[in-house]
Amino acid sequence: MKDIKDTGLLQDEPLIFEQGGEGRKGYSLPRWDVEQVKEEERIPSHLLRKELEGFPQLSEVEVVRHYTRLSQWNFGVDSGFYPLGSCTMKYNPKMNEEVARMRGFAHLHPYQPESLVQGILKLMHGLEGYLAEITGMDRVTLQPAAGAHGELTGMMMIRAALQARGEKRKKVLVPDTAHGTNCSTSAVASYQMVEIKSNEKGVIPPGKVAELMNEEVSAIMVTHPNTLGLFEEHLAEIAEIVHRKGGFVYCDGANLNALMGIARLGNLGVDMVHLNLHKTFSTPHGGGGPGSGPLAVKEELIPFLPVPVIEKEGETFRFDYNRPKSIGRMKAFYGNFGVLLKAYAYILSMGAEGLKRASEMAVLNANYLMTGLKGSYYLPYDRPCMHECVFTDRYQEKDHVSTLDIAKRLIDYGFHPPTIYFPLVVKGALMMEPTETESKEGLDRFIETMIIIAKEAEENSDLLRQAPRKVKVRRLDEVLAARKPKLKWNRDQSQ
Ligand SMILES: *Cc1c(COP(=O)(O)O)cnc(C)c1O
Repeated sequence: MKDIKDTGLLQDEPLIFEQGGEGRKGYSLPRWDVEQVKEEERIPSHLLRKELEGFPQLSEVEVVRHYTRLSQWNFGVDSGFYPLGSCTMKYNPKMNEEVARMRGFAHLHPYQPESLVQGILKLMHGLEGYLAEITGMDRVTLQPAAGAHGELTGMMMIRAALQARGEKRKKVLVPDTAHGTNCSTSAVASYQMVEIKSNEKGVIPPGKVAELMNEEVSAIMVTHPNTLGLFEEHLAEIAEIVHRKGGFVYCDGANLNALMGIARLGNLGVDMVHLNLHKTFSTPHGGGGPGSGPLAVKEELIPFLPVPVIEKEGETFRFDYNRPKSIGRMKAFYGNFGVLLKAYAYILSMGAEGLKRASEMAVLNANYLMTGLKGSYYLPYDRPCMHECVFTDRYQEKDHVSTLDIAKRLIDYGFHPPTIYFPLVVKGALMMEPTETESKEGLDRFIETMIIIAKEAEENSDLLRQAPRKVKVRRLDEVLAARKPKLKWNRDQSQ
């Protein structure tokens, strides 16, 4: 008999291969009353799979319990507060999931002829229109499968637009407060990146842009709001400087959660912007996809959009492939339709007022959090924030407690840690994004806990350095855990 330990509700769980027993099945049906056809008679024997040695055989309830228990070791937006900065881990209404699973949508096939999917094309065309309206742009491609993919699409279009003008520019300006994907995108698109230092207020100084901007620069990539959670207050002026020298303004709008219905990027001089539907528009994420990063562009860039583009003629919708200046396809078929559908349902159910209210609440919550933690944690940019705020471990340094310790201790209290050590411009950053879906009580509980942790740092800092202690897996060597994951949980190895 195995040594069974008292673990409360968080049960130990062996591998599925160690469970069950010979002959157990995941279903029970009455015995058949017709003669059974042997598999070998219907399928050539060389195509039949042999018995797999050690293949698990479990009853239905064993399978259900196995996966339910494993799911309880995990953390999601459905289990608690998830203030992971820059990721917008907000709660997404289940209704939109229901909509995406309706049979008519779920059973669509990308090879269905246009005449049989007019409603679908209408929906995609409609979503495009809403996103153009929200961003203040002229047209949108729904193809990109993620934010970074939208960025790459945009940079390829900028190259094509410059080529059409007979220009070849090699550089891209990227501020030090940009999201990491902006740097990667510049590199993948074979551009040379020139860094712009943000000023003491955490934003891009127009003077610096003017210094660096010349006829070799194809574009500036601005994350807005930036990764410090701040509004780029000089964006319009910066856009003018870049345009004057023939460059384009790319905006990383992955965090549009802060701006919907409040600031239209097109009005600020932005030429193109990608959105993350899996952040702002109701697709839960964190598990690796699918996502969607539509790219919205101004009139001048429309000819370069990926094919196909959806056109409306009278009451009929069709895919237009005949676009000689297009950069081509960025994805098989037409984008991750299920994600588009959820965004469409979300936008319709919220309405213009609702979207604006969501952004207002996101910004209000972040400022509430920031105000509550000021004094207990060091706030490097002490000014009103947008959807997120960035603290550091500076006050805890004297007690030899780091950002990592604070993040790990939060797990013991049942919270998902914030984003840590990012953005890079802030040493020991703790980047927190509460989102609009957290209640005041939820925020108060988090603030209270963070203040308790700050006290623990002063009075009993070992507690923090040993955290987390109340979960299945204690502190890991995170690099090793990612490179050589050990999937079998073992109580003795958990510490
Ligand atoms: C999340 C995020 C991205 C990357 O989006 P992916 O869908 O993960 O590729 C880019 N920029 C910003 C500002 C983000 O927050």
